[in-house]
Amino acid sequence: MTDTERLRNLIREIPDFPRPGVGFKDITPLLADPVAFSTVVDLIVVHFGRGNIDKVCGIEARGFIVAAPVAYHCGAGFVPIRKAGKLPSESESEPYVLEYGEEILEIHRDGVLPGERVLIVDDVLATGGTAAAAVELVTRLGGKIEGVGCVIELEDLGGRSKLDGVEFFSLLRM
Ligand code: AMP
Repeated sequence: MTDTERLRNLIREIPDFPRPGVGFKDITPLLADPVAFSTVVDLIVVHFGRGNIDKVCGIEARGFIVAAPVAYHCGAGFVPIRKAGKLPSESESEPYVLEYGEEILEIHRDGVLPGERVLIVDDVLATGGTAAAAVELVTRLGGKIEGVGCVIELEDLGGRSKLDGVEFFSLLRM
């Protein structure tokens, strides 16, 4: 079995969660497997390159779990991108459209400095709205987007098209 097949077997599909019609990709079996978890982190780090990244931005909440060890292994800092109202200091906000309604993502204004090389990490790329909002926030702070890395890409939803001109890497296309 290849690394990718092993990882794929550890994604649990939960039908109709959190809403009817959504096939939720549950990565907790993958996170609980020591080899799979380190493989995910290593493959993202190898793709973007150690020493090429100054900050890794993780998107709340599952993105944090993958982004933090990626930051550690890249020799980069970790910066949280959170839902509205959670960050304690001065923040930039960006609204984005979800399947039902709108959400807001925020980043601390001093989280990324102008010219810093930034990698954005999340668990799943679906429609791409979340990742595109994160790219917009980092760009507004003057960060240089080195790429977006995800564990899973839901290919049929075409989220990549919202990341025009951005290096995008996913481990599993589903
Ligand atoms: P989107 O903005 O549509 O690309 O949605 C991506 C965000 O929503 C990520 O932060 C994911 O954690 C979450 N998400 C969307 N769809 C799913 C899914 N089918 N399974 C798990 N997480 C999802």
